[in-house]
Amino acid sequence: MHPFAFIRPADAAAAVAGAAQGNTAQQGAEVRFVAGGTTLLDLMKLNVETPARLIDIHRLPLDTIDAMPDGGLRIGATVRNADLAHHPTVEREYAVLSQALLAGASAQLRNMATTAGNLLQRTRCMYFRDTAMPCNKRAPGTGCPAITGANRMLAILGTSAHCIATNPSDMCVAMAALEATIHVQGPHGARAIPFGDLHLLPGSTPHRETVLEPGDLVTHVTLPPPVAGSRQVYLKLRDRASYEFALASAAVVITVAGGTVTRARIALGGVGTKPWRSPEAEAALAGQPVNQVNFRKAAEAALRDATPQSENAFKMELATRCLTYALQLATA
Ligand SMILES: Cc1cc2nc3c(=O)[nH]c(=O)nc-3n(C[C@H](O)[C@H](O)[C@H](O)COP(=O)(O)OP(=O)(O)OC[C@H]3O[C@@H](n4cnc5c(N)ncnc54)[C@H](O)[C@@H]3O)c2cc1C
Ligand code: SF4
Repeated sequence: MHPFAFIRPADAAAAVAGAAQGNTAQQGAEVRFVAGGTTLLDLMKLNVETPARLIDIHRLPLDTIDAMPDGGLRIGATVRNADLAHHPTVEREYAVLSQALLAGASAQLRNMATTAGNLLQRTRCMYFRDTAMPCNKRAPGTGCPAITGANRMLAILGTSAHCIATNPSDMCVAMAALEATIHVQGPHGARAIPFGDLHLLPGSTPHRETVLEPGDLVTHVTLPPPVAGSRQVYLKLRDRASYEFALASAAVVITVAGGTVTRARIALGGVGTKPWRSPEAEAALAGQPVNQVNFRKAAEAALRDATPQSENAFKMELATRCLTYALQLATA
């Protein structure tokens, strides 16, 4: 593994100041925060990430889950995925988030992985993880072999001619549907980022994955107050039942009155270059009677702009059925 210095700051300001010395918060950054390490240390062993300095954020007081005065929930950046999934308020009021977390990785990984680390985990594209191969995300300008190569697991929504990598997170799909807000402390102060604005589409700069800048420390995530009467489902389809990333997944937060959809928030996983909120599906469902035909129409609307790759055209129908069935489960 690449040599690196390891530091443990006592407060967030020191952590931010240390990380602000990096040129970039993205790929190639010399200074990285390390939380659970389940993404970062993996990639360091592969020489995909080669930071000179690691800032361990475990000592920072960012590991609590707290009710907010407005009825929402505040989730600290270093809260472990397992603790978040099993928190009574999350299980009761934000069930889609609990289900998404428990659908991810394995019990051991969920005990290590943190909220912020999960937000910022990197793609599993095999070319990205193999330094013998070109990859625009890892080494800008070298090309994207996935477009003509092994792309069965990769994205069909939000792709570009430069990168088709899937965002692999389950948690993020639920947070997109819950309309979470990401809170960051940076060298110029604190700011709040609506969930949909955190991750960037690849465009011609796939090495830039988020709007975070050098020194930006994710401190916590907030969820708005739960929507009264909403029903929630996270459905994940994958090659095996555990320890596997999504081929397609759907997060549904839906409210029904008198057999009609009054509100729907929909996001897809396993198919997008970022966690994929679908305003198209939400609009297609609003005010419509709850039935299979309308669910299918909404799912088709979500996939309308998809661009299948050479090996993953099956995801079009798979994702359509995944969302249709998730809607059925949520409203049964
Ligand atoms: C075998 C395997 C299977 C997996 N399967 C799944 C799956 O099915 N579904 C799924 O969703 N995930 C899966 N994962 C990914 C796992 O969820 C992530 O690795 C984990 O969530 C990352 O969290 P971490 O705390 O370990 O992050 P780290 O590895 O510590 O950090 C990840 C990134 O976030 C940055 N970072 C961390 N905290 C902060 C902060 N507070 N502010 C700013 N930057 C920060 C780090 O610098 C780094 O760039 C799998 C992982 C493995 C190894
Ligand atoms: S899809 Fe993206 S991550 Fe994968 S090889 Fe192409 S540029 Fe690299």
